[in-house]
Amino acid sequence: MRKSMFLVLLAAIVLASCSNKEQTNQGSTSKGQELGVSSLEEDSTRTISTDAVFDKFFTEASLRVDYCLTGNQKETTYSLKELIREPYWSGSKTNLVDTLEFGNYIVKVFESETDNLLFSKGYQNLYGEWQTTDEAKQVTKTFDESVVVPFPRVKIDIALYYKTWEGKLKEGMRFCVSPENYFIRDYDNLNLPVYDAWIGNEDITKAVDVVILPEGYTQAEMDKFIKDCDFFVVSLFSYAPYDRYRESFNVRGVLAPSAESGCNMPGDHVYKNTAMHFSFWTFDSERYCMSTDNRDIRDLAGQVPYDQIYILVNTEKYGGGGIYNFYCSSASSNRFSSDVIIHEFGHGFAGLADEYYYAGSSEHMYNLELEPWEPNITSLVDFSDKWGDMMDEETPVPTPRKRKYEQTIGVFEGGGYEPKGMYSPHMDCLMNSLGHDFCPVCQRAIERMILYYSK
Ligand SMILES: [Zn+2]
Ligand SMILES: [Zn+2]
Repeated sequence: MRKSMFLVLLAAIVLASCSNKEQTNQGSTSKGQELGVSSLEEDSTRTISTDAVFDKFFTEASLRVDYCLTGNQKETTYSLKELIREPYWSGSKTNLVDTLEFGNYIVKVFESETDNLLFSKGYQNLYGEWQTTDEAKQVTKTFDESVVVPFPRVKIDIALYYKTWEGKLKEGMRFCVSPENYFIRDYDNLNLPVYDAWIGNEDITKAVDVVILPEGYTQAEMDKFIKDCDFFVVSLFSYAPYDRYRESFNVRGVLAPSAESGCNMPGDHVYKNTAMHFSFWTFDSERYCMSTDNRDIRDLAGQVPYDQIYILVNTEKYGGGGIYNFYCSSASSNRFSSDVIIHEFGHGFAGLADEYYYAGSSEHMYNLELEPWEPNITSLVDFSDKWGDMMDEETPVPTPRKRKYEQTIGVFEGGGYEPKGMYSPHMDCLMNSLGHDFCPVCQRAIERMILYYSK
């Protein structure tokens, strides 16, 4: 989320952005048949439990695919780096095929023999955001990233897709993996201590497992990190709807010390030797604090079961970022930390868009001729799957931003950084500005995501 940090303007605090340029939810993504659980159950003369479907094709470990995206604003190339076996599968065993279809990037797993779709998951990444920068017009860069799929029992094809600015789905890479392949490396067990900040459900396949990683905490500061993990948990459960789903979350901190305290601040000529090399001024945006050292992040995360990665950066400086099914970060010790942490988690976990906008913005993160995939903004190109069912019939569309509609679910022009042509569901929401709860539309989206992981 490139501008996904809050701008502090006197009393008014406006949230900054997060997104990339290739936005749409159009295009069919299937190759082969979708092997949904329900179709197996229908086709079978006996009832196959959902766990049995999982168990037929997968083990309870994970296969991490490390790869690179190389490109510029015009083109993208995928290249494979390494396959790693991680010890846990913490995702759902039931919802194997991603029916939400959020994100402009998708990983799909097919059974090689039949070409049946076994698993899919949508996500976003830092590379896609970088592609919207001026730098990407001039130079080509490489970004590391990973996807994690359940470890197969059978030979599988893994395919990675991305959506173009026009909404076309393109296959970036496809390759076959045999479970017997001895080049699949076992993860490095770093034997780091783990802090169980909150265990709501011992069954990791029915919970949202959040791993919190410490950036820029020295060994002497590990007690502070533990307190900051507790602060994360208290913050999370102080917002609806998370407060009603405590039993659906596990939050674990991996106690990985950094050699030095703090993080990189290039604009101040400060560079630190830290565990994951997070840096403010990412994409030359001061408050955007991200890291391109994907493998450092993943190696630490893989020590525990994880569905979501959250990096707490040991600094008082205001900032952070959050990318859907990628990772979130935020400063641990800023006075706005609680709101920022939960705002960023809204991006990373639930795929929520920023609902704020800039007057006269010239940078466009969305193609307004397409409906964005995010559940809390609309271009009105295809509003049918959004929040129309939550609106009163007499609410005007678009809905004027007037006091009269302050508590109304409507279609307010402005959102996704765009003052025109993009619309938000509410005048007040944590995805718009600090000091608010999530609006009802965002709450429903979060609730749906929690339930998706809980099955
Ligand atoms: Zn944001
Ligand atoms: Zn909202």
